[in-house]
Amino acid sequence: MTDWEPAAESAAAADPGQPAWVIRGARVLGGEPGDLLLAGGIITEAGAVSAPARSHVLDAGGLIALPGLVDLHAHLREPGREDAETVDTGTAAAALGGYTAVHAMANTDPVADTAGVVEQVWRLGRVAGLADVQPVGAVTVGLAGERLAELGAMADSAARVRVFSDDGNCVADPALMRRALEYVKAFGGVVAQHAEEPRLTQGAQLNEGMRSAQLGLTGWPAAAEEAIIARDCLLAAHTGSALHVCHVSTAGSVEIIRWAKSKGWRVTAEVTPHHLLLTDDLAGGYDPVFKVNPPLRTPADVDALRAALADGTIDCVATDHAPHPVEAKEAEWAAAANGMTGLETALRVVQLAMVDTGLIDWAGVADRMSARPARIGRVAGHGQPVAAGGQAHITLYDPAAAPEAVEPATHASKSRNSPFAGLALPGRVVATFLRGTATVLDGKVTR
Ligand SMILES: [Zn+2]
Repeated sequence: MTDWEPAAESAAAADPGQPAWVIRGARVLGGEPGDLLLAGGIITEAGAVSAPARSHVLDAGGLIALPGLVDLHAHLREPGREDAETVDTGTAAAALGGYTAVHAMANTDPVADTAGVVEQVWRLGRVAGLADVQPVGAVTVGLAGERLAELGAMADSAARVRVFSDDGNCVADPALMRRALEYVKAFGGVVAQHAEEPRLTQGAQLNEGMRSAQLGLTGWPAAAEEAIIARDCLLAAHTGSALHVCHVSTAGSVEIIRWAKSKGWRVTAEVTPHHLLLTDDLAGGYDPVFKVNPPLRTPADVDALRAALADGTIDCVATDHAPHPVEAKEAEWAAAANGMTGLETALRVVQLAMVDTGLIDWAGVADRMSARPARIGRVAGHGQPVAAGGQAHITLYDPAAAPEAVEPATHASKSRNSPFAGLALPGRVVATFLRGTATVLDGKVTR
């Protein structure tokens, strides 16, 4: 994963007039307490720091400092579905979750399949100023799966797109997938596949298994995901190109990705917070807040996904934040939309599923939620070590905060469809710094 150049410098330069920040006593990646001095968008000093004149001081005793989180997979819904989310509200949610960079998926209206649309999304991110927004370009025109979109024009645009995905839809045609993989090599891009063989999931409502049989609903078989992942790994090998697998959800998918990586093929993968914690048992109450694509799977799948994230077979956590207006989710199960919000709860879910279980430590969290997604997404300036000389993208997190029930009504997202509503999650994002400027302080957006 080193044979590419970062796409672009970060979306905006630091404000030269901004006051410096001194962060006192933070534990970088959970290590020994120390100070950080942020000035001019850079971490200028680390260790024991004396505060310059006119600087702000933040007492971070007990807090863990992580590199600002990077999300490879969020649906910000703008343009077209501003009733569900906007770039502004979505990046506020991201900042509150500790994120400093977010990839915005292409299934907007109009679809982000031209230079014009990806530049619009990128500019909206700059205006919001709460996280760097990296637009994902569609692989095919209108996500229709019939002909390639203008991948080169999107790559050359001001948005400098490097990740391409028809997410929501699978690029099911193998010849088209092969051509997309070949095409993105020219500019060091990656194709991110929503792996779902459409012929095997027609009418599917939830994971195919005991639960779907009990409920009498059409099942979404693991093989529909695994067949496409296996095919695409072979195509990545054949083309020598980079494949990223979105939202891996089954134990069998993990085995295929482990095999592809053992061959040295250029394959990376992500898992969502909800697939690390929740199972298809939750469908039993017919509450569509638990309806998602790919569906929640079995406890054995959850165990395999956690182990794969811990051992690095799965590279990173990505939220698949998918906000929906109330009417799209408060329908009967079969009519309800797929998807869950996730930006504001991801780090807390990862603490519960991965850290408190002893599977990874805070350095592992920094790797899986910042460094690796920044590399896969080709985001310059993000995912760097929290050390002198690095960009001042920092998240301060309190892992010892008393567990508190998730209350979607308090979220910055425009939508309320969190599957974790009412669940007591540990931890709290206290502050987020983007290029040395606080976007979140004391758990609140600063503006
Ligand atoms: Zn998807």
